[in-house]
Amino acid sequence: MKNNKEYDVIIAGSGLAGLFAALNLPESYKILIVTKDTADLSDSFLAQGGICVQRDDDDYDSFMEDTMKAGHYENKREAVDVMIRESREVIRDLLSAGVEFDKTPSGDFAYTKEAAHSKARILHARDTTGQEICSKLTLRVRERSNIEIMEGSRVVDILISKGRCWGVVVRRPGQPPENILCRDVILATGGVGGLYPRSTNYPHLTGDALAIALRHGIQVKDMSFVQVHPTSLYTEKPGRAFLISEAVRGEGAILLDKKGNRFVDELLPRDQVTEAIYAQMEKDQMPYVMLCLAGHTEADIPVRFPGIYQRCLQEGYDISKECIPVVPAQHYFMGGIDVDLTSRTSLDHLYAVGETSCNGVHGRNRLASNSLLESLVFSKRAALDIQKQDQGEIPPDFPTPDPAYYDKIETENRELVSKEIRKEPNHVE
Ligand SMILES: Cc1cc2nc3c(=O)[nH]c(=O)nc-3n(C[C@H](O)[C@H](O)[C@H](O)COP(=O)(O)OP(=O)(O)OC[C@H]3O[C@@H](n4cnc5c(N)ncnc54)[C@H](O)[C@@H]3O)c2cc1C
Repeated sequence: MKNNKEYDVIIAGSGLAGLFAALNLPESYKILIVTKDTADLSDSFLAQGGICVQRDDDDYDSFMEDTMKAGHYENKREAVDVMIRESREVIRDLLSAGVEFDKTPSGDFAYTKEAAHSKARILHARDTTGQEICSKLTLRVRERSNIEIMEGSRVVDILISKGRCWGVVVRRPGQPPENILCRDVILATGGVGGLYPRSTNYPHLTGDALAIALRHGIQVKDMSFVQVHPTSLYTEKPGRAFLISEAVRGEGAILLDKKGNRFVDELLPRDQVTEAIYAQMEKDQMPYVMLCLAGHTEADIPVRFPGIYQRCLQEGYDISKECIPVVPAQHYFMGGIDVDLTSRTSLDHLYAVGETSCNGVHGRNRLASNSLLESLVFSKRAALDIQKQDQGEIPPDFPTPDPAYYDKIETENRELVSKEIRKEPNHVE
């Protein structure tokens, strides 16, 4: 027997998109989540600002316009429509899973606003929204006896026969690559920040699913659409850049140049604020600009932004009293594996969801707090669509994978993906 195990569905990645897809598949399915590091090491856990939701029927037009405008109208309108219309449903799902968002003293949700939003429509859990959502969803996944999580292992390839996907090739630490078969595969391997010297992403997020897609001629889209976040904490230490959420500017924080003057409307879309910061850094001949919360936000800073407050204290800055140096950093990948509104790729029985996919929601530039929402809406759609697929075919035999081949392609993958992304200029280097 050349093929080791069989599952109904295999999911690559345990971020929000992977977890939510798993939870939306029937409990009668045998599901495997393969994840590269520990299950909680994903960008989804890092999300600070929050998650958008259509507040009421009147909010539809303005939510649509804000998303399209931020995306330079290069978004796919039908995909944005789906995301907005299904936003309340997925938030209800999160609440049922035990997720708690901040509330006002009167018990209503405490919506916040970020740059380029014309209304406060962002739900949050202090400034650690991703952790609140993903830790609860991980608990729910671990309660399901039909879902197995394989940590510290990576999907390095997919198995294809007669024009459809039949499973994945997985590498576990210290073991040769192995075939694992299933009926449907969902790629949810996140973004590409690990390919950049300065990024807010975890370094192990290196666009692995994109490499798989490129090697097999699976359609990809908008590969040069990389978002640089305007404000990460400036430091000369190496490692992941620490994000200072846009929510702080949404709640009043301002940006200052070397002489202490404001130089940009802080609430413009991310790409425009980033451009203005780069231009100001050049003009001032400085490696950063200053961001000031103290005296500009109404909130009690240590209570409203505890994660940012604590981390800045560790770096020697008290944001409730002083300004901090900030610099742009690679943050998000709008392009990805081309998918339709049910998250199907160009290969049968292969789905892509979350940041590794491109359904066109974000256009050229993602609107703040739309990523968690998009991941939820379209991973749920993938899970529902899978249930409509053929159930009964017998999987073919695949040859035992050759370790030397996978050693080779894994060392080449970074370059393969980087080259594709850098075909057109962007703001990162
Ligand atoms: C600091 C920060 C703050 C953010 N704040 C917000 C916010 O407030 N609101 C918002 O909407 N968005 C925010 N985002 C963006 C958002 O968090 C992500 O875009 C989104 O969560 C992506 O989810 P995902 O499931 O697609 O990917 P991820 O959460 O990144 O998960 C990817 C998973 O794939 C696994 N993986 C990677 N390669 C392989 C492989 N070869 N085999 C198996 N597993 C693999 C990883 O280990 C990980 O488990 C933020 C991002 C960052 C970095």
